[in-house]
Amino acid sequence: MGFRLEAVRDNLKFSLVAWPETGVRCDFVLPPAALSSFLGPDLFEPGSDASPPPRLTTSVRGHFDLQLIGRRLKVKGIFAVKAELTCSRCLTVFAGKVGDSIDETVDLLDEGVGADDQWEGFVAVSNGRFDLTPFLGELFWLSWPVKALCRPDCAGLCPVCGANLNEAPCRCRGETTRH
Ligand SMILES: [Zn+2]
Ligand SMILES: [Zn+2]
Repeated sequence: MGFRLEAVRDNLKFSLVAWPETGVRCDFVLPPAALSSFLGPDLFEPGSDASPPPRLTTSVRGHFDLQLIGRRLKVKGIFAVKAELTCSRCLTVFAGKVGDSIDETVDLLDEGVGADDQWEGFVAVSNGRFDLTPFLGELFWLSWPVKALCRPDCAGLCPVCGANLNEAPCRCRGETTRH
């Protein structure tokens, strides 16, 4: 069985009307703004509202194979974006890739009026239509690296003088080992 191949989408809004039995395959390229409301600072620094939301530096790309199984939706695919990440060792901001593959089945539930944008563990259907953008936002949130590294062998900062040891060795290294 083959998926119906669609043109590349710039949104993740679908209609259940005339849903093809073979399912839908969609390639998508979304502007960074499409996900910005799902990647707010409160999601990343619990208890701190000082950190800015992560800046996405490319469009969000991926593809989903969508299969309707009763009132559930099977989603299989990949998604990725480039973003400014902060290295957990040396605190340098660098361009890193965030993304993952997915193979999940989610519930489609009828949503009343006034549904908000946030993911609530199911995909809300309204007038036969649904939007997978909140779901994608949740996927990004879950796949966001907790400890990003600018490079696998990042030397980090000197705990004594704070120098970035990737740039040059510092003088206090030898002194601290003499204690
Ligand atoms: Zn680093
Ligand atoms: Zn030092």
